[in-house]
Amino acid sequence: MTDKPNTPDAVHRYQCPACGHRMTYGHKRCGACNEEAPVYNLPNFWLGLYASTAVAAAAVIYALL
Ligand SMILES: [Zn+2]
Repeated sequence: MTDKPNTPDAVHRYQCPACGHRMTYGHKRCGACNEEAPVYNLPNFWLGLYASTAVAAAAVIYALL
């Protein structure tokens, strides 16, 4: 771990695809190389994914009724 331990609530869920640095979840850029973070490092991506999954599931259930 090279990250400073001064942000205990920071989540480092994914690694930067360019340099392997564990990016802070929710940040749009890598903290080490400033490369643009993948879309899955952003909470909005998961919100949209869950929302669209819920809509699709509801549509399937509706179609089966
Ligand atoms: Zn990086």
